[in-house]
Amino acid sequence: TPPPNRTEIIMTDASVFDQYPLDQWKEPSHRIMDRFSLAGKKGFVTGGAGGLGRNVAAAWAEAGADVAIVDLPRTKETLEPLAQELSERYGVKVVPLYCDVSDKAQVDALKSSLVESLGTVDVAFINAGVNVPGDNADEPYEVWQKTIDINLTGAYLTAQIAQHIMREHNHGGSLVFTSSLSAHNANFIAGGPSPVAAYGASKAGIYEYARYLAAALAPYGIRSNAISPGYVWSGIFEGRIVPEAHDMMTAPVPMHRFGTNEEIATAVLFLASDASSYVTGTNLQVDGGYSVY
Ligand code: NAD
Repeated sequence: TPPPNRTEIIMTDASVFDQYPLDQWKEPSHRIMDRFSLAGKKGFVTGGAGGLGRNVAAAWAEAGADVAIVDLPRTKETLEPLAQELSERYGVKVVPLYCDVSDKAQVDALKSSLVESLGTVDVAFINAGVNVPGDNADEPYEVWQKTIDINLTGAYLTAQIAQHIMREHNHGGSLVFTSSLSAHNANFIAGGPSPVAAYGASKAGIYEYARYLAAALAPYGIRSNAISPGYVWSGIFEGRIVPEAHDMMTAPVPMHRFGTNEEIATAVLFLASDASSYVTGTNLQVDGGYSVY
């Protein structure tokens, strides 16, 4: 039989569009800002002692989520007081958890600790990462391997436990991955503080993995997105760039400045919360316009 013509389909199935209200704002209880709330949600942040991580943990706690801040044991002196301060300030549960994200056994143990301390996981910021010195065209195998192990395999391992917890508890969720401007740009001429051969490859891999998961996990109500920060003043640059580098690095950035950790946290809050409920498989550039050139 020939397919029905276009007009026929529209006329017959018009009621299907009833599920898309035209003016939700008219409902008495409607408040658009509630879409950014994480009240009652549970989340974890890897690289939680670092610049991006701790600001995202703070944003999620302020938005009402219980949060596990995850980082290496060597960050204990940062994580313990941070968890306490966020918990007291925002009245939510904030716990420090220790894990090397490149170690499968430790990440498996992290899964149990997360369920034990939070009950479940609704939102995850897959963010731990390193930029290893000597990451250039002639880099030794060890530099390549360490970068891929922590950045890419670590992202895979931690995203796996996050999505498995979400599926085991039969609710949806949101995964947000930290990619980088270096996933999209060789970042070579700008003369960054460190070359990004393996780093860029690892971050491009994260971006594509986030896209794959968007397709694979949509049936479970789990969204998966990446952010690509430009230059953000944080621990990753500590002791590695001289003051003069600021102007050199920001010359190709249309806004001519670094970004702040708070400017990353707002983007991650958007992607984690229901404010982005129809956004999955995307990459949000938070780079002052660097990528437009
Ligand atoms: P940061 O160095 O302050 O934070 C990184 C954190 O990751 C640290 O606390 C570190 O202890 C942790 N970490 C490192 N190896 C780990 C491991 N094996 N297991 C668990 N935790 C580990 O730097 P940041 O800028 O906050 O970096 C956060 C993420 O943002 C990284 O993935 C980085 O590549 C990415 N990024 C940063 C920038 C920037 O300009 N700062 C730009 C693009 C992307």
